[in-house]
Amino acid sequence: MKPARLLAGLGRKAGRHLNTQPFRMRNHRPLASFTFDDVPASAARAGADLLNANGAFGTFYIAAGLLGTRDEFWDVATVEDVRRLHATGHEIGDHTFSHPKVDEISAEALEEEENANRAALREICGDLSLENFAFPFGRQSLSRKLQLQRRFATCRGVYEGLNVGRIDLAMLRVIELYDRTLTPEKLARTLDAAAARNAWVIFYTHDVADPPSWIGTSTALFDRVLKTVADRGFDCVTIAQGLRRIGARP
Ligand SMILES: [Zn+2]
Repeated sequence: MKPARLLAGLGRKAGRHLNTQPFRMRNHRPLASFTFDDVPASAARAGADLLNANGAFGTFYIAAGLLGTRDEFWDVATVEDVRRLHATGHEIGDHTFSHPKVDEISAEALEEEENANRAALREICGDLSLENFAFPFGRQSLSRKLQLQRRFATCRGVYEGLNVGRIDLAMLRVIELYDRTLTPEKLARTLDAAAARNAWVIFYTHDVADPPSWIGTSTALFDRVLKTVADRGFDCVTIAQGLRRIGARP
């Protein structure tokens, strides 16, 4: 293997497994969050409607450079969608401006991405604290992760797991909210384990559509998960609210 490729592989492995921003959770009840990446128009509309109907708020990680475009699988949300999400109490998170693989770009390029996204989202939403980040494609490296954790309160990846005990704020773990992978058995097992360990379950998905894409959620599944989580006594929080519940923010 070429040295450069070997180093890149080590950087990804280190970023995934090294707890670079450890924090001991101090929440009193198990928590659940619903997070959306990119985001498709259907998530900003049907997804937000379901959250609102269930009295819940989500975190939408926006790459402003994609707004209003057509992706392979969906129409991306518009500027108006993002403005409405923010105005109705949902959290706007950061997902870079143009959705690069951050492990393949320089520190300077990533800095420019972040400055551009922050400027665009502030233009759309007015005053906006952009506290939380999600890695595009889930791609990361140790050096880019360390760079991003200086800028954001949390970074969310795509590695599966519950956030419990001593967590890595720079690599929050997720459960896929996909029709393809979230079976009723897996949902029950996940919530049982999370309730027993007072965990923070962070669901993540893309579109909320009928039928969904292979990395999306049907409206029926999303509604069922929202109701199940509430029935089981989880507090449904945005990532920003979750940070307060675990004691990482006053
Ligand atoms: Zn993405």
